[in-house]
Amino acid sequence: MSGLLVRCGVPRLATTHLPETSLFDSHCHLTDIADPASVLEETLRSGVRSVLTCGYDDASNRAVRELVTRHPSLPFSLGLHPWFADQAIEPVLQSILDSQPVAVGEAGLDLWGEVPVHPIERQMQVLEAQLDLARRLDLPVTLHSRKAIAELLDAVRRYRGVRGALHAFSGSYEQARAFVDLGLYIGVGGAVTRSRAKRVRRCAVALPLDCLVVETDSPAIGLDGVEPPHVRPWHVKRVAAALAELRGIALEEVERQTDDNVVKLFGERARGSAISEVEEGSNR
Ligand SMILES: [Zn+2]
Repeated sequence: MSGLLVRCGVPRLATTHLPETSLFDSHCHLTDIADPASVLEETLRSGVRSVLTCGYDDASNRAVRELVTRHPSLPFSLGLHPWFADQAIEPVLQSILDSQPVAVGEAGLDLWGEVPVHPIERQMQVLEAQLDLARRLDLPVTLHSRKAIAELLDAVRRYRGVRGALHAFSGSYEQARAFVDLGLYIGVGGAVTRSRAKRVRRCAVALPLDCLVVETDSPAIGLDGVEPPHVRPWHVKRVAAALAELRGIALEEVERQTDDNVVKLFGERARGSAISEVEEGSNR
């Protein structure tokens, strides 16, 4: 295969052959995948420009911070997910202050089930601490919601001015619109590749393209034909392709616009792709 060098029996990228692309996976968990450095390299090789890798609890925040010591330009976020709201929030806030991520989160609310994983009061306390810090630092928040859209919308309204994206949004068009009207972005994930995901597909088509970002939540959320934990950040290409097909527009337009949205949302540091670190690794 052209573009590959073979060193010690391992195919490595030739620096001049990394593809030009503008596609960005706006929410994934590289540190939940074995050998994240190789997955990152494979992702960039596949034509994905970069990813936002998100922490969600004490252990994963540590793992993300460790990964970015090796890939300093890799965009990352740190946060406390509602599933882990029993953990202390203060060390997470301190970690955000110390390491300057491009975003806060994964944060949010999860009220699925007869008895939520943690009491709503505690989940809200943890969420609000992160919304408050994000607003003070002018950082966006990557938000999780399950069976909690109304409660999350109320919280975001209380922290008016907070920026962010609802990742893997699966609510109604009207709910999405309410968040967009507050200036938030809507994350389109793997569900859009499934023909039965009618609500997700309606949002993907009906919302303006300038308020959408694409993502995988890899390895956690499946696509048509690829189930967790086998999802990888390069599957964001499938998400973008489904979005383009549903909207009847060119894939390049989806890539260009969602990449512009990512830079508006996460800032200039989202232009960082870790390509330079991968190239350095390739040349060792
Ligand atoms: Zn996630």
